[in-house]
Amino acid sequence: GVILVSCGTLFIVLPTEFFTGGGLYSCVPIWYVFIFLFIGLLLKGAAKRIMLTAAALSSTGIFILAYYRPELVTERSLQNTLMDLIVSVLVVGIMVYIMVSFQSRIYLSENKLARQQKKEIEELNTAQNRFFSSMSHEIRTPINTIIGLNEMILREEGISDETAENAKNIQGASKMLLALINDILDMSKIESGKMDIVPVSYDVGNMLSEIVNMIWSRARAKGLEFYIDIDPSTPAHLVGDEVRIKQVLINLLNNAVKYTEKGSVTLSVQCDVRNREQAEIVYTVNDTGIGIKKESIPYLFDAFKRVDVKKNRHIEGTGLGLSIVKQLVDLMGGEISVNSIYTKGSSFVVKLTQRTEGSEGIGEMRIDTKRSMGEREHYKQSFEAPTAKVLIVDDNESNLLVETKLLRSTKVKTFTAMSGAQCLEMTLETRYDCIFMDHLMPGMDGIECFSAIREQNGGLNKETPVVILTANAGGENKELYKKAGFDGYLLKPVSGTQLENMLLKHLPQDIVTLNGAADDISSGEELVRSHTYRTNVLITTDSVCDLPKSVTAKLGIPVNPYYIYTKEGMFLDGEETDTDGIMDYMSDEENEARSEAPDVGDYESFFARQLVKAQHIIHIAMASGSSLGCKNAVEAASSFDNVTVIDSGHLSSGMGLLVLYAKRLSDGDMSVSELVERIEAARDRVSTSFIVESTDYLARSGRLGRRVNSICATLMLHPVIVLKNKGMHVGKIIMGTRKRMWRKYISDTLKHYKRVDLSVLYITYAGLEREELEELTDLVNERLRFEKIVYQKASPAVSINCGPGCFGLLFMYKENAEETEIGAEE
Ligand code: ADP
Repeated sequence: GVILVSCGTLFIVLPTEFFTGGGLYSCVPIWYVFIFLFIGLLLKGAAKRIMLTAAALSSTGIFILAYYRPELVTERSLQNTLMDLIVSVLVVGIMVYIMVSFQSRIYLSENKLARQQKKEIEELNTAQNRFFSSMSHEIRTPINTIIGLNEMILREEGISDETAENAKNIQGASKMLLALINDILDMSKIESGKMDIVPVSYDVGNMLSEIVNMIWSRARAKGLEFYIDIDPSTPAHLVGDEVRIKQVLINLLNNAVKYTEKGSVTLSVQCDVRNREQAEIVYTVNDTGIGIKKESIPYLFDAFKRVDVKKNRHIEGTGLGLSIVKQLVDLMGGEISVNSIYTKGSSFVVKLTQRTEGSEGIGEMRIDTKRSMGEREHYKQSFEAPTAKVLIVDDNESNLLVETKLLRSTKVKTFTAMSGAQCLEMTLETRYDCIFMDHLMPGMDGIECFSAIREQNGGLNKETPVVILTANAGGENKELYKKAGFDGYLLKPVSGTQLENMLLKHLPQDIVTLNGAADDISSGEELVRSHTYRTNVLITTDSVCDLPKSVTAKLGIPVNPYYIYTKEGMFLDGEETDTDGIMDYMSDEENEARSEAPDVGDYESFFARQLVKAQHIIHIAMASGSSLGCKNAVEAASSFDNVTVIDSGHLSSGMGLLVLYAKRLSDGDMSVSELVERIEAARDRVSTSFIVESTDYLARSGRLGRRVNSICATLMLHPVIVLKNKGMHVGKIIMGTRKRMWRKYISDTLKHYKRVDLSVLYITYAGLEREELEELTDLVNERLRFEKIVYQKASPAVSINCGPGCFGLLFMYKENAEETEIGAEE
């Protein structure tokens, strides 16, 4: 409707009115202003743009026409014009007013609705949070009773094995339930944006010790080795959310133990000090477990997603852990990546940048591993203090019962109070050595009661350590209690060990008798491994890059070997074969050989081995069109977040040149994405070509038909193999004697001489004698003077395809050089 009205007005009504009603002296311009507003307010998108353009064209068109062709306009009397003016101004004015006020009313009501919805969402969020936090509190209280009393059963000496077994199952199930509640609580907090990261200064060594102590015994119980490898230069003190970092690492380590049946779990920490204030800490959790299928990796961090469900159905879990881990790492501004080979193992890498505090490094770490108590065969109280008086304040009777029982074997005298008021009466009469205080109690809550004790007139416990014992989970609560001045914080459900450890910290030393045998402290040295330094980016490649072994070894470039299949068996290219040997073998016409790329599994193992030495791998593969290597490497890399495969688009020393270039770049401190971009851009600047003396070998390796081969031989045709579109192609054919073929090939290859980077030329060859090489060099020198010429035997994999007498000139073009051909200049 709006379009029809606009069109009719613009192209019929207004032009007619204009030309019949006085032209430039009519009131039509006022109506044009109105129609612009009409279109602008009522149309949207492309229709609006088109109609506004039409309005502009129609109005300017008729004005210009009236100016140049005044005879087209019918004049009007002044009286008529006056009437027209009054009516137009009034009608347009009123209509503009109505339209604008209508629009602004719509806008205001939408705005109101949005504000209302926002408020409702916020209220819903708060209600949801309140619900989750009270649910967590309500569930923790009974679980505290279950776990605590169950621990008492496990401690009993005379119970039957069956009862012990049942009690252990109860213990497992309640811990699982607790983990589930914690996960759901965290997830709801993250989703409602309420998960705050609270950076505090923390002791890295202590944090790692605590983590290791939680995990190692679990690993040992499963028969797994547990190792730690910590960079001694890691700062001893960092500023970050210790609670969340611990949560992330414990989650990853728990998964590693859970999903590993045999072998080991390793926690490595590497530090890269950015500047005086910041350090990038890389935590790696490695396991030799069941691994993760490639196709599952993209969904790994999704909430409630458990992968490989069939195989893992006997392993407890909710699929929330990794999702929480990922979101926590994101909140802390870090990165998480995963590298995994199905059936072989996984490695999770977390990178976090943290502020450093002081320049002290952590040094060689020694971790004292303490076996956790509570296991039936190990339980022995850690101390006895028969004269100590401990007051426990809690409104829940079962909680009081559990905590009293858990402390019974330490012989401390326990007293209980069921409210803040009762507690204050007791603190007036007795001096306690320690007070455990619940937080949420009807009437006076724990925090109020604590302040009252500290300020109590005539109170005997103004100095007594008070520990908050709460079912209110959450890192921010811990901070709250610290600020309130509590001497310690314990979260329900609490174990006997935790209570004992907390008491040991606060009871006066002279009333405590330590029980030496209780803490089964074993040396931590067996866990600590010497630190393996990981470089940031490692460049790797395939054996067909034809770089001399001495060069790759010196530069630290790991090389994945191709396979050479002969009648004698299979050999690893460059490791178990050499070019002369293979040429010798091939000189017998009966013999055959072919090269084959490593398969996906080979690449996976190769990458996994290299990732021990580096944070990230950039693998430069042989041109995808000439071998399956690149495809296999890409497929293998899909299991690794930290491996990038680049199709070199070349083979032999051409690929080698790119590898050397990449290695040089990687020694700077470029980011991985920048490196990849630069290396890919350099691909087109490498020139790779070979001239083949005799096509026999191409025929023997099946790359050339027999008939074509005999035609080539008869006519003395020599193909020049070039790399085009990442594959090997015959670029041209040179005819004639050997000398002519050499000259022609050299002059053609070096014709863009101004662009050639003269720093190094590779002459890669097979089956050429020294004098022949010298002759070749003279021919090259006649054309261009390179600063360095490297003679390199083509790898067996390349030689068996091209045969003896073949050679190639491989070099790079300069960056941004202008194009000039030798021929053109000459
Ligand atoms: P869950 O509670 O199931 O362990 P997570 O979110 O922690 O949930 O993990 C999601 C899925 O990822 C798991 O179900 C498991 O299949 C897989 N997974 C996690 N860690 C590993 C690991 N170290 N090795 C093998 N698979 C793992």
